[in-house]
Amino acid sequence: MIEKKEIIETGWNFHNSYAHLPKSFFTRINPTPVRLPKLIILNNILAKSLGLNVEALQSNDGLDVFAGNNIPEGSFPIAQAYAGHQFGHFTMLGDGRAVLLGEQITLSGERFDIQLKGSGRTPYSRGGDGRASLGPMLREYIISEAMYGLGIPTTRSLAVVTTGESIIRETRLPGAILTRIAASHIRVGTFQYVSKWSNAEELKALADYTIQRHFSYIKNDENPYLSLLKEVIKGQAELIAKWQLVGFVHGVMNTDNMTISGETIDYGPCAFMDTYSLKTVFSSIDLHGRYAYGNQPDIGVWNLSRFAETLLPLIHENQDKAVELAQNAVLDFTKLYHNNWMAGMRAKLGLFNEETQDESLIEDLISMMEKYSADYTNTFRELTFDKVEDTVLVGKTEFTKWYDLWKARLERQQESKDESHELMKNSNPAVIPRNHRVEEALEAAVEKGDYSVMERLLNVLSKPYSYSPEQEEYSKLPPPSTCPYRTFCGT
Ligand code: AMP
Ligand code: MG
Repeated sequence: MIEKKEIIETGWNFHNSYAHLPKSFFTRINPTPVRLPKLIILNNILAKSLGLNVEALQSNDGLDVFAGNNIPEGSFPIAQAYAGHQFGHFTMLGDGRAVLLGEQITLSGERFDIQLKGSGRTPYSRGGDGRASLGPMLREYIISEAMYGLGIPTTRSLAVVTTGESIIRETRLPGAILTRIAASHIRVGTFQYVSKWSNAEELKALADYTIQRHFSYIKNDENPYLSLLKEVIKGQAELIAKWQLVGFVHGVMNTDNMTISGETIDYGPCAFMDTYSLKTVFSSIDLHGRYAYGNQPDIGVWNLSRFAETLLPLIHENQDKAVELAQNAVLDFTKLYHNNWMAGMRAKLGLFNEETQDESLIEDLISMMEKYSADYTNTFRELTFDKVEDTVLVGKTEFTKWYDLWKARLERQQESKDESHELMKNSNPAVIPRNHRVEEALEAAVEKGDYSVMERLLNVLSKPYSYSPEQEEYSKLPPPSTCPYRTFCGT
């Protein structure tokens, strides 16, 4: 008797709205099949939230989708065209090693891009091989999921597979593909591409599509394109303030790595700072510190100015008027950013209301952190539990003075000590993805095929505000080192 085998539906439900945009915006291309795919990690919770069946995703057919060996029904794979300023220099780029399978529509009707990263060459690959290696793809998985846990808008990671093929960098490395989930992959660089190489009609098509997809509530505004600019500025002011508040250094804030949706994207040489310093740079290619921690808000303004330039013809038919409107919008970034940052910092110090001296209270604390090389995350953590004896600031006269001012400031608000403590717990992560912990997890995974270290790390990072006992060892600082931590692009 033939057994009836139940076919489990995976749940892919693709729309391909981007592929209906003008043809010059993308190239129709399939991922390049790989030899021997193996599933390394699958994000079960994320899969379920996308309406996908975990069991089916883990089957050979499911795995083949993550590997690019099988195009699921309804998918219309494309590589997207975009340009970008890389370290200030304008270049044509595009998905050189990624393919968008389509947009998954969830059961609740939300739309998410499903993209394979490391899936083979495309017309935008330039000299590259279109591939990615396991270490950097797992790194993106860990950091993006940590950012999600921290409550910071981000693209997410659904799965990593190895390809069974080696790729050649300085040495031979195991090839891998990351399945990335994003609100969309529309970037500042997408607008730059269309503005430079397409016509006014196509620019309008991109802007209208973006409004429809991300900001449909502005479509009937008097000047929807000016509103689009303002919305993107607002989103980036919120996002970059969140980065600063947790000490995240993106590392390569090129305009192609800035989304229109306001999500963090492209986890290359990014890292979290330990000791507080505005000059913190991790990326080995950022020789002049263009993308240093303290520069991120200014780079935000620079990138948004490039975005504003692309929208000028849509904002007003009179160019001078368009420039004036766009400039005023961009100028607002600084104020918006500052308000977000101040609100976040007040919460980190347990403050509910606003007083004019708050700014100097905050500035004094962070300049002491910089002066005494205090650990950024742990200083706020110790303040949360009033365990200042565990910080390097204890005993410093200026800190004692500051501490008394802070306590007096807390006394002056209506909320109780307990309420302040709760606010601080929810605003100061107990754990961040410390560089030595991320490296340790990647080394075990890549060198030894041991994924348990990464799984434990991911588990701890998924609840950074829970202050659970298993987090203790993850909040310890790295052993003193003679050379600073360096990250590489991993391309
Ligand atoms: P990123 O530094 O990841 O933002 O990438 C910058 C540009 O280089 C993008 O156009 C990528 O698609 C492209 N790129 C990066 N690595 C590769 C590769 N191995 N093969 C082809 N293109 C790549
Ligand atoms: Mg990029």
